Parts: sequence; C-alpha cells; structure tokens
Amino acid sequence: MKKDIRAYTYEELQKEIKILGEKAFRAKQVYEWLHQKQVDTFEEMTNLSRNFRKQLEEEYEILSVDMVQRQESSLDGTNKFLFRLHDGNVVESVLMRYQHGNSVCISSQVGCRMGCRFCASTIGGLERNLSASEMLGQIYQIQKIIGERVSNVVIMGTGEPLDNYENFLKFIRILTDEHGLHISQRNVTVSTCGIVPRIYDLAKEHLQITLALSLHGSTQEKRRQLMPVANKYELREVLEACDHYFGETGRRITFEYSMVHGVNDTDEDADELITILKSRNCHLNLIPVNPIKERNFIRPDKKNALNFKNKLEKCGINVTIRREMGADIDGACGQLRRSYQGRSTL
Ligand code: SAH
Repeated sequence: MKKDIRAYTYEELQKEIKILGEKAFRAKQVYEWLHQKQVDTFEEMTNLSRNFRKQLEEEYEILSVDMVQRQESSLDGTNKFLFRLHDGNVVESVLMRYQHGNSVCISSQVGCRMGCRFCASTIGGLERNLSASEMLGQIYQIQKIIGERVSNVVIMGTGEPLDNYENFLKFIRILTDEHGLHISQRNVTVSTCGIVPRIYDLAKEHLQITLALSLHGSTQEKRRQLMPVANKYELREVLEACDHYFGETGRRITFEYSMVHGVNDTDEDADELITILKSRNCHLNLIPVNPIKERNFIRPDKKNALNFKNKLEKCGINVTIRREMGADIDGACGQLRRSYQGRSTL
C-alpha cells in the first residue's frame, strides 16, 4: 500500500526523503508543494526531476478530500461543506468569515463515540479516525474553493480530537510548521469534552494553541447527565487538568457551555458556575443549544441567556454568548452529515 505523504511532519518527511537517497533540500521542496502550494499530484512538482517524481509516485499517494456539497448562509456568509474521503465516508467543515480573517472549523473523526446528549455527531457512533492529511485536506480544499487564505482553525467539528490524539498532534505540527501553511499556533483552538490524560499529554507539548473545554454542567452530577465522558473523568479532575494546561502553556482556557433550557440555565447553575470559574483566569463561551431533531432539548430565550451572562459578568467572569452563525443552514455540529446520510440511504 502506498504511504499517505501529506500526513508526515516536516521532520518525518526529511527522514523519508533521505532514505530515498535524495538531498535534504528536496524535502523542503516537496513539503512546500504539499502544504503551501497544495498540489494534488506529483506531476505538478515541476522543480523535481522526472525520476524523483516517479519514485515518489510509486511509494506515496496524495490523498485529497472532495467537496460533495456546499451550503451558504444568506444571513452571515457562513459556509458549510461536506467532503468525501477516499473510502466514501463524508465529513463536514464550516467556514466563518470574520473581519479578522477566515476561520475554519474542521472535523477530527468520522462520527464520535463520546455520546454527548445534545450532539448530532455522536448519534451514529464512531466510524473511524481521520488522518492528519484528512484534517488538513478540509482546510486546503476550502482555501482553494474560496480563493482566499484561512487564518484561524478550530477543531470543533464532528469528533473528539483527543480521542484521535496522535493524528491530531501531527495535524497541529504540520498546520503550524513554517515550511507549510504556517498558521500561527495562537490562531488554533482545540475543543475537547475532557479526556484528562490527553490534556496532560498536550500540556507537555508546550504549544501555544488554545484549549477549549466543553463544560456544559456546573457540578459533577449535572455534567454527567449531559456528557457520558463525565462518568470516566470527574469534573474536579478535568478542572485540575485545565489548570495544569494553563500553568504549563500560559494559555487561558476557554470553557464552553451549551445552554439547555430548564436543564443547565437556572440561577442555581449560574451560581455554581461562578464558584467554579471565579478563581480561574479563563474565558466562558455560552452557546444556546442548537436543537437537533433527534432530541427535545430547547434553548433559553435571548432574555434568559442575557440574564445568565450578566450574573456571571457581575462576578468578574469573562463571558460571551457565542454569536450564532449559519442558523439557516444545518447549523449544529454533525447535522449536515446526518441529513446527507439520511438522503443517500433512501
Ligand atoms: N468533541 C469536542 C469537539 C467537538 S464538539 C468537544 O466535545 O468539545 C464542539 C462543541 O460543540 C462542544 O462544546 C459541543 O459540546 C458543542 N455542541 C455539540 N452539539 C451542540 C448543539 N447541538 N448545540 C450546542 N452546542 C453543541
């Protein structure tokens, strides 16, 4: 089987090229073709000899992801893309256009096994992990389609990135490498439901990426009701891991809190959140839950959400309500893929 050449970090590719008997600078050239110019064939690598290109062709393949659907919001220009992988699986990605640049939200797995109650991505379970090249491919394709550079990346689409840790870490290394697309680590955010041992692993890497922790409940008991992963890792342990990440990297943690009406948006919840967060240097992102048709969760109305926010703010907590993007296109995580699967099995 041919090797997936876009999944090698710069250092790994240097070793590969050396084994092929080529000079070291060739690795830089190949890497630039793959990750800066983002070509899809070895043919196009015109500064390499024909022989070398043939040799690469024999041992490696360049896997790309193909767009099968694009939805564009008429409200705010948000785009949702559905990409087909080489084995026929599909994943979704979202492009959000901000004044400060283009931000892309990518998927890290096909499906998910974490089982969060309000999330559409997890309903069909986990199909498989994405490779580093499939994560990169989502960004590269979007850049090609829109003809503009992507400056921010969030790993907040379908999947639990820390449940696909090795590939995720490779992806970050390649994405932020100066020889490649070279996205600043500070412009990358990874969101996790709280896989505690992997948070410690990530802290050891001393990256400058932002860690976003899906909190969603202000006590162990409440969190457990929405997130099965809380049965494995208690809230206290998750918070300690986040403190450790902050201590090691100096990067302030973002806590995400999807507000579900009548479940986690009461005054009592706000008070408990204040207890947890007031001593921490962090940011709280409130996300009124995106209703999905498989569950009957509803979001708080605007006034309630605002009251909740004000209460926290008064106690000195740094809090925002996430601006809703693309509400008119299958907004919530995993919905587009699910609706596509529903159609294709009819
Ligand atoms: N597995 C990771 C990243 C993917 S989910 C994680 O759990 O963080 C990205 C964020 O969207 C998480 O905070 C998740 O809980 C939230 N989310 C998923 N479905 C949602 C929905 N229907 N409404 C609001 N937030 C949702």
